[in-house]
Amino acid sequence: MTAATHSTLFPQVPETADAVLDGLDPEQREVALALHGPVCVLAGAGTGKTRAITHRIAYGVRAGILPPASVLAVTFTNRAAGEMRGRLRQLGAGGVQARTFHSAALRQLQYFWPKAVGGDLPRLLERKIQLVAEAAARCRVRLDRNELRDVTSEIEWAKVTQTVPADYPAAVAKTHRDAPRDPAEIGQIYALYEQLKRDRSVIDFEDVLLLTVGILQDRHDIADQIRRQYQHFVVDEYQDVSPLQQRLLDLWLGDRDSLCVVGDASQTIYSFTGATPDHLLNFRTRHPNATVVKLVRDYRSTPQVVHLANGLLSQARGRAAEHRLELISQRDPGPEPVYTEYADEPAEAEGTARRIRDLIAAGVPAGEIAVLYRVNAQSEVYEQALADAGVPYQLRGAERFFDRPEVREAGVALRGAARAGGNDALLDDADNLPSQVRAVLSTKGWTPEPPAGSGAVRDRWESLAALVRLAEDYVRVKPEATLADLVAELDERAAAQHAPTVQGVTLASLHAAKGLEWDAVFLVGLTEGMMPITYAKTDEQVEEERRLLYVGVTRARVHLSLSWALSRSPGGRASRRPTRFLTGLRPGSGALGARGTGGGGGIERGSASGRRKRRGPVLCRVCGTTLTDAGEMKLMRCEGCPSDMDEALYERLREWRSEQAKELGQPAYCVFTDKTLMAIAETVPSTDGELAGISGVGARKLDRFGADVLAICAGEEVGGGDEED
Ligand code: ATP
Ligand code: MG
Repeated sequence: MTAATHSTLFPQVPETADAVLDGLDPEQREVALALHGPVCVLAGAGTGKTRAITHRIAYGVRAGILPPASVLAVTFTNRAAGEMRGRLRQLGAGGVQARTFHSAALRQLQYFWPKAVGGDLPRLLERKIQLVAEAAARCRVRLDRNELRDVTSEIEWAKVTQTVPADYPAAVAKTHRDAPRDPAEIGQIYALYEQLKRDRSVIDFEDVLLLTVGILQDRHDIADQIRRQYQHFVVDEYQDVSPLQQRLLDLWLGDRDSLCVVGDASQTIYSFTGATPDHLLNFRTRHPNATVVKLVRDYRSTPQVVHLANGLLSQARGRAAEHRLELISQRDPGPEPVYTEYADEPAEAEGTARRIRDLIAAGVPAGEIAVLYRVNAQSEVYEQALADAGVPYQLRGAERFFDRPEVREAGVALRGAARAGGNDALLDDADNLPSQVRAVLSTKGWTPEPPAGSGAVRDRWESLAALVRLAEDYVRVKPEATLADLVAELDERAAAQHAPTVQGVTLASLHAAKGLEWDAVFLVGLTEGMMPITYAKTDEQVEEERRLLYVGVTRARVHLSLSWALSRSPGGRASRRPTRFLTGLRPGSGALGARGTGGGGGIERGSASGRRKRRGPVLCRVCGTTLTDAGEMKLMRCEGCPSDMDEALYERLREWRSEQAKELGQPAYCVFTDKTLMAIAETVPSTDGELAGISGVGARKLDRFGADVLAICAGEEVGGGDEED
């Protein structure tokens, strides 16, 4: 993620084509200047691959060599595509299509469907799991939740490797694939799933590519039309291209060769879906006249982070590893990576939140910090911990910024006000652009301070606040800008999907973090079983997990923290072990343990807070079951068990909380989350010790709010801010 400073949000557009090349090193420049024929860039993380291809396109366009509409840039995620469109615009090359394979194919399919097939394109199925469950039931196969997920992935794999149901069992045998159930059975479910889709006139995600490929193969007239439009192709993250995507790319290209691919085999993390780095590694064999460029300078990370990344790769095995390139950091030295061992997961989450608060206090913007985990289910405990620590956060993979309803509404309101010009009563007192924007957006729910609570209301506020910040940044660059100018800027950004950075710590899975970067990265939950994940069984699967960790490490610019917890819940048996991938790399972990870059850095023993007692296992207060779910642990009962909460007390606590929040100028969840308040209203603590035993009440909160909360629980009035002292 790029820092949200105005210099990066509104940089000057380079004046000439040559000026576009100024920001590149000699090898990157070679990439940008290789505008004819096949080009392949093989390079490690943070070496500027994405930057090189973006500048290449911009240079080509600005120099008049590539007509913008003839270029199709393919990236891995919608977000990456949005970022690339934004960067191209900044370099003076708007109008170039940057899309994912999927969205490019979907667009072509929608356009050509009436001509190729007739009628409208069938509806796109959002999630296949329901239909797979139905197919399995009809085949009389009972699948539990995990099996259902695994069978669904098998169907996806079969589709991207272009394997039809009847051929599935043979394909499994041929590729030595470890199928989650009898391949014949999966083949049947797969066949029935396809049948159900046809019956209901729906298509799934993979069908979008399969159908586009089908039309391009069968209809030469349509293929010609598409090829006339797109003549130059650029693919980022090419190591993760699937056979089906490669087929589509081949069909787009036809017999031409204006193709530029960039990738890093060591970052292959989607082979479980059928992707393979072979296309990247064999590029030269397939295109003997290709320009091949290697980049080794790492511009992203400090020598300390790069040292760990190189160390991880030096232990890697397999084909991708044979092609690894040792990275050389271009940055000034920074802090050593911090390794922390915690007793349990809630302690790990609280400890992480505390470190994040410290970093923010030390001046690192929240938007420049990320917590990355292996599976999405790990997010909840971190959401809670950050909310408890009063730190704003955002989950990755949310709706695109300009598609959010509040952002659309805000756009309409701003446009209306701009049209009314000086005649809008709202703007009477607002003499500059930011205050005009604040005035208009306050009719849509913007307030100077964030609202209490964390759910949808808060999300909405964050979007509006991002627009206000954008206006503030904008006038800094263009002091004379009017509301109409801002509206035009927003329209352009919306068309380019160049969203402003929402301020808040990013919570994301390692897979979703691909291609991105932050000043500070927290890699959490690094235990055997999570990293590598339990279901990685074969050597190749374990290697892919190692690469996933490499991707995580290389997201950090300066601060890198790696942590794990010895047990899942407080008081549980300390049966977990830190990931094997750090053996020999982290201090005190075997023969290679001494390799550091010289700067200290031992393992820290984390505790959630200095004064926190080691807790026993958390049992449900109603039924006595040991709780393992983070939310339930916070409530101290199963979600489903009846609540014995004192409703009146809960209401009093909430009132008190909103007063506190108002006084502190912080959202209510920074005081206590709803779950913590509920737990208090259920437990009705009468001593400091009892209160401290409630999850979400750390030492800091005990100091600050303990007296008030205990007084409220004892039925006493707590003053409305009139007391002395
Ligand atoms: P990944 O493998 O993670 O996708 P990448 O190779 O695509 O990484 P980029 O994201 O393009 O790397 O670049 C990493 C960072 O280094 C970015 O912040 C980029 O702006 C910066 N950078 C790259 N090249 C240069 C350069 N020549 N001068 C200054 N900064 C650079
Ligand atoms: Mg990149």
